[in-house]
Amino acid sequence: VRDPHRRPVSFGALHVLRGVDLVAHAGTVTVILGPSGSGKSTLLRSINHLEKVDRGLIRVGGELIGYRQSGNRLHELSERQILKQRAGIGFVFQNFNLFPHLTALENVAEAPVSALRRPKAQVYERARELLARVDLADKADAYPRQLSGGQQQRVAIARALALEPQLILFDEPTSALDPELVGEVLDVLRDLAATGTTMIVVTHEIGFAREAADNVIFMDEGQIVEQGPPAQVLDNPRHDRTRTFLSKVL
Ligand code: ATP
Ligand code: MG
Repeated sequence: VRDPHRRPVSFGALHVLRGVDLVAHAGTVTVILGPSGSGKSTLLRSINHLEKVDRGLIRVGGELIGYRQSGNRLHELSERQILKQRAGIGFVFQNFNLFPHLTALENVAEAPVSALRRPKAQVYERARELLARVDLADKADAYPRQLSGGQQQRVAIARALALEPQLILFDEPTSALDPELVGEVLDVLRDLAATGTTMIVVTHEIGFAREAADNVIFMDEGQIVEQGPPAQVLDNPRHDRTRTFLSKVL
């Protein structure tokens, strides 16, 4: 996300993001912290072109998201091209958003078969591997309603991985879970981090940020207040706003 001119992203008259300029390097984990309403979800949704930014450019793996540039003009991509770009960016939501009428295995296999038109046998084989990776090999045939929240979220992560994304966005992936189920989902995130998955994670799990993040970003009122390695932002924040926020969540 590059907006060196610090220009806004707005909903009507409300400027939700104001000059966010950030780089998430390949293979790194970026954790975004910030109070409710600070624009964290809007930032993630902008990266996927689920929100259109008024100004500034977003690139993933060097590719401009949502637009094609010719000279100094931008032309919005077609819906099909946008969907294709989105397929390369995983998105894991707070509320899992699994298809209720599909089994765990079918949820993981759905997009590669229908969106990417990959051969079914191959996709299902890979989907089983991914369920095993999130420790759910035995739940392949279960429907979402037969799974705990933590299990559903792990299916959702396997589903995101099935598209072999170059980047995965997580929007508060553990905040809808009962406390005893948070750990199993964070274990999966740690495993992904350790294997070099490029991740941007909005979370209030400071312990996870401390262990797994390469870069921690604190947002407030649509701006990045500060960012840096966890030891700096979490243990030695430069700004009062960061300190106040951390004292509330720690
Ligand atoms: P939370 O921690 O509660 O999830 P957040 O940091 O993710 O908060 P956002 O959801 O990005 O915050 O919202 C930022 C601001 O934008 C808020 O003031 C919100 O009310 C507003 N907002 C978000 N989506 C829309 C929308 N579609 N239309 C109008 N305003 C919106
Ligand atoms: Mg949010």
